[in-house]
Order: sequence, then C-alpha cells, then structure tokens
Amino acid sequence: MMASRSITTVDELVAAGLLAAGEEASAAAAAEHYAIAVTPAMADLIDPSDPLDPIAAQFVPTAAELVRTEEERDDPIGDRPFTPLPGIVHRYPDRVLLKVVHVCPVYCRFCFRREMVGPQGDGTLTAEQLSAALDYVRANTGIWEVILTGGDPLVLSARRLTEIMRQLATIPHVRIVRIHSRVPVVDPERIDAAMIDALKQGGKTVYVALHANHPRELSAPARDACARLVDAGIVMVSQTVLLKGINDDVTVLDELMRAFVENRIKPYYLHHPDLAPGTGHFRLSIKEGQALVRALRTRLSGLCIPAYILDIPGGHGKIEISERALAGDPDAGYCVTDPQGNTHPYPVKK
Ligand code: SF4
Repeated sequence: MMASRSITTVDELVAAGLLAAGEEASAAAAAEHYAIAVTPAMADLIDPSDPLDPIAAQFVPTAAELVRTEEERDDPIGDRPFTPLPGIVHRYPDRVLLKVVHVCPVYCRFCFRREMVGPQGDGTLTAEQLSAALDYVRANTGIWEVILTGGDPLVLSARRLTEIMRQLATIPHVRIVRIHSRVPVVDPERIDAAMIDALKQGGKTVYVALHANHPRELSAPARDACARLVDAGIVMVSQTVLLKGINDDVTVLDELMRAFVENRIKPYYLHHPDLAPGTGHFRLSIKEGQALVRALRTRLSGLCIPAYILDIPGGHGKIEISERALAGDPDAGYCVTDPQGNTHPYPVKK
C-alpha cells in the first residue's frame, strides 16, 4: 500500500528499505546540507532490491554527494548576478524567472539550485517581496514571458496560485506564463480541479514544463495528471536532466521521449548536468551526451527530439550543444560561445 506522507529523514529511508545497511552515516552527512524528500508516489516506484534503481538514485542521498570537485560552484548557472531583487532572475530581455517558493515536493540529489532550495535555502517570498517582484515585472514592459520556478511553484496552494495568476493577468505585456514543475509526476493527485482552475485564472497562455528523467516516472497516475492539464488547455513541454546511471542510455531516453509525446508533452530540453556541488557522480561528458543525442536522432521522429542544452557556468545563458557550439580540444577544456557571441571557458574536460 502506498504511504500517506513523504519520506524526509534517514531513519524513514531505512524503515522503507531504501537505504542499504552501512550507508546511514554518509546519507545523514549529505542530508545535513541538502534535505531529503521522497513523495509516496516516487517511493512506490522504487524497487528496493535494485541497488541501481534509477528512481532511488535521484532522491536517496549517498556518500558521493560529499565529494566536491574543483569546478563545481554554489550557483552553477549564475542566477545571483542576474537577481535585481528577491525572487526575480532577469537574464534575457523578454523573460524573467519568478521564484516565489524555494521548497520542492522531492529533493533531487543532482539539483542545480541545491544551495537555494530546501529548508536551508532562500525561503519563500514574503507578501512584500512578491509584490515588489510583480511591480518589477509591471515596470519592465519588455517582459513577455514570466517563468514560475524555484523551488516547485505547484507546491503552492490553489488559493496562492490564483492570487499570483490574477496579478500577472493585470500586466498586459506579459503574454506567457510558464511553470516549471515536477508535481504532475511526483505528486499527481495535487493536479486537481482547484489547481487547474488556479492556473487558468487571468487568461494568459500557460505552459507547464514537466521535469521527468526516467520513463518509469510517467506512471498511470502521472499520465492522468498530465492529461488533466492538457485537456484544460494548458500546453505541456518536458525537461530532462541527462544523468549518469539514470538515463544515459539510448533505450531509456528513447522510451522517455516517446512517452512524453504520447502524453501530449513536447520534448523541450535535455539538460547537460550542471556543475552543482557534490553532483560529479551524475555527470557524463559532453562528448557522451552528444553521442546519445546523435543515437536518438537515428531512432526517433523529430517530434520526439529535445534540444540538448548547456547552461554556461556564470549565468551567460543557454546554448544548444550542437557539434559546432563548442570549440577547443575536449581533452583540454572547451570554449563555448554564448547567445551574444562572447566566448567563455567551460572547465570540464572531455
Ligand atoms: S524539483 Fe527542481 S528545484 Fe526542486 S530539487 Fe528537484 S531539480 Fe531542484
């Protein structure tokens, strides 16, 4: 039977059979800095007898997280230099991130914002901070798209989401509201009529970018939750982080991308893993990622192909990792060109 509440401690991981004997101390050391949360829906998908289970690997802390490499950084994609006031990241002229909440229903061990999210993170915006952030969006008439992210915005109550969507509705130059979330997969029952009603308040075009990394995450309840969103007129796109030991396999990626498309979710981003602290065990090389994407292209319809993306460390934006976007000798470190044509070193070799 599915548990009724999330696992949030090492003792609960042990009791659920999700932590091997002898791993408690290192898991506790990792969890001291980066919180644990595994929802009942995700715990239910884990095969405790499989030490390499790809769902467990995403959420169960390990000793590998205690290893920090030289190139890793607390703010790997450079949010902070583009934060003019709390809750806003304004990196590109026509869009902003609005980070209302800094908690998530699950804590992914590879999270690129792991220093900012969670109980130890940046906290939820106060009413005054949210009002100032919305005033910023109102004052910057070039902002066409507001991206609610965080943290996971769909942990907010339907009432709070309604308030935010209604506020955004009063800003005529904002045409698109995009919401980045893992909730339809990790807590599908939250996508109920009240939540959908909240997302539709104000009449903006709403996109939900679903974060899922393995085809098993698209369980029957998750597929139903996505169908409820799409049936309500909300457009869905996907984002997946390419992760060693979880989805660095062409058959797994093939199945995942087909599952997205079958469920009316357009594959959008395949992220190369960021240089977040203690995540080196999840990282594969850019060369390996390019080979996987090449293999996907030989097997899948163009509809199923996401853009393979690198967030340039330091906040210089995203680039698609085509064979041409990276120059230099892979064995000595790459040189990447940002959207403005400026070049930056990418410190990871191979
Ligand atoms: S849901 Fe997103 S923001 Fe939250 S821990 Fe996972 S990757 Fe990080």
